Amino acid sequence: MAKSAASYRNQAKALWKTFSKIQRVLGVRDGELAEMLCLSIKDFTRLRHEQRELSTSKIFSLADILHVSVENIWKDEIDYRALVESFHGNQAHIPERYDHAAFSKRRTAVTLVGFSEAAWGTTFANLTLRHFQIHPAALFRPDKMINIHFLTDFCAYLKRQGVAQNRFYEMGRFSVASNRGSALDQAIQKEKNARGVYERVFEELVNVYYDKNWNYGIRQLSNDHAVASIEPRQEVLAALGAGNMGSHLLCLFKAGVTASLLGYKGLTDAKVTHPKCRHKGDSECLYDIDFSEANFIQERRLSGLRQQYPVKHRLLF
Ligand SMILES: [Zn+2]
Repeated sequence: MAKSAASYRNQAKALWKTFSKIQRVLGVRDGELAEMLCLSIKDFTRLRHEQRELSTSKIFSLADILHVSVENIWKDEIDYRALVESFHGNQAHIPERYDHAAFSKRRTAVTLVGFSEAAWGTTFANLTLRHFQIHPAALFRPDKMINIHFLTDFCAYLKRQGVAQNRFYEMGRFSVASNRGSALDQAIQKEKNARGVYERVFEELVNVYYDKNWNYGIRQLSNDHAVASIEPRQEVLAALGAGNMGSHLLCLFKAGVTASLLGYKGLTDAKVTHPKCRHKGDSECLYDIDFSEANFIQERRLSGLRQQYPVKHRLLF
């Protein structure tokens, strides 16, 4: 439905109210804000007096300087503390929503941003981060913590931008490229086979390198297959003041991360399905992990090496 004239007027009034809040919080004068909006002080004063709407390009100029999105300004969805920090040059600040109850390592955020950059370009990735009032510099240290809401919100934002559901699995698979050369990579490479990788990751590494939001467990484990369960930790839910956390999109991302773990060893991805999900009404999240193909390839490589080198020269296999 087309917007009525009254609705445009109200929107414009709200916009000028947001501008004056921004001025108050940052302590900037009319002339400075006019400059940020690419307006002369004369036009700025007149438009404010008439409470007129501004073009998106003017608001974009301001958003660019303040490191927020146009949407943040239109809806006055701004973390003003983060705005002040950013305005004064602090690029490491994390907005309050993502800074408290922080149980996720930032490496997952780095993977999401890294994939966005590789798939849709640096500008897209930066504009997306800007929407959350986070500078890329804040993510430089993947072992620092961040609230799970950042990952959930980031996925939801991508979905709103038209990213198809199946891309979230692919994003998770990007984690191997994103963590190449890390301590996580080295720890996984030490495992002899696929079974060992999944056992070690779910029983130990996931809490060290990814997050402490969930209790990860292995329900079934054989040489070709595993079933993993993921349940929220009650203390995290209490800290968040929520009955649930994450999202189905984030679960699909996790499925991609899980599938790709064998990539650190140069093996084919596992086939991972997510037959039960708390975000689809099930009582738990279950992941079914089939790594038979990776085993087949590893065995073929080893038998090739056995044929190539006679028994007396074998040292490693
Ligand atoms: Zn799930």
